[in-house]
Amino acid sequence: MIKLEDNLGRRFEKLRISLLNDCNFSCVYCVSEDFGNVKTIQKPVTDQPLSPEEFAKLIEAVHRLTGLKSIRLTGGEPLLYGNLFQLIDHIQKIGISDIRLTTNAYYLKEKASKLFYAGVKSVNISVDAIDKDIFSKISRHPNTSRVFSGIEAAVKAGMNVKLNAVVMRGKNDSQIIPLLDYATDLGVKIRFLELMKMGHLYHSENGLFFPEKEILDIIQEKYAIENIQREHAETSNYWRTSGGGIFGIIANESTPFCHDCNRLRMDSNGIFYGCLSNAHGEKLSAYMDDDFLLTEKLRGLLRLKQPVKFHGSELSMRNIGG
Ligand code: SAM
Ligand code: SF4
Repeated sequence: MIKLEDNLGRRFEKLRISLLNDCNFSCVYCVSEDFGNVKTIQKPVTDQPLSPEEFAKLIEAVHRLTGLKSIRLTGGEPLLYGNLFQLIDHIQKIGISDIRLTTNAYYLKEKASKLFYAGVKSVNISVDAIDKDIFSKISRHPNTSRVFSGIEAAVKAGMNVKLNAVVMRGKNDSQIIPLLDYATDLGVKIRFLELMKMGHLYHSENGLFFPEKEILDIIQEKYAIENIQREHAETSNYWRTSGGGIFGIIANESTPFCHDCNRLRMDSNGIFYGCLSNAHGEKLSAYMDDDFLLTEKLRGLLRLKQPVKFHGSELSMRNIGG
């Protein structure tokens, strides 16, 4: 294997794949008000995602050169990808057994056990509020109760479940304690995310931004907290609460974590991105059988990583794969 490492010692060890742009939710931070699809500088972009075989070919080539440790399937909403189980099977055959998923959990109740037995042992689930009205306003979906049955089914199936909540000022900052208490009662970790300036938020004033410090202040009004040592390349810092819970904060703005980022991303059209903060993508399909050129292309993507901090991007999370 060729050494693919930048001057900060960063490598591509984890691949996140946005399986499709489609989603049954239209979360306010992910989809613009006019529901217009997100601006990208990549042409041509079709809404037709790659087939499992096309994804597998790209994954196999990148794995050959980088020795990927894990793959996260995301989107859009990955549970809407029709050939999900075929793709999981292909990834297993490539030799990558650590396969994870990020989902809004709407369709998880029916699929949790099957996913677990197919090899998906870890799932991150987005849940932005316990209060139904608040959750519906954020997700622009009337039936958010299915998210909770999805979460509970995943726990029951034996999956390692983590919850993700994007905190927005005046929208769901009232939900920090209810979400933390829900996660604690269920025995799972929850991570609060600082809002990232992506997609339609890129050029906007960030009035909804709610910083790590204020999240910590709110939690400390109810619980004593103790910091847990951060692991290498973790996006989140974690704390243990006196209530027996564990929560994290993904603080792109307040506590940036670019310095040891090990993630590579691929969108549903097979375009690869080295950094969330850089909308430049590379279509690598032409280089699959040429290790020299493929290595050069991957090196180029590695160079796009920010040294310190995320600066936002015109690409939406739903395209690049959050
Ligand atoms: N549909 C799935 C879901 O919601 O979990 C997977 C895709 S979604 C793009 C992945 C993650 O990105 C979610 O946890 C979502 O909250 C997060 N996300 C999307 N846009 C964001 C933004 N502007 N700032 C912070 N997090 C964002
Ligand atoms: Fe869909 Fe996830 Fe984006 Fe919400 S955050 S609109 S669930 S892709």
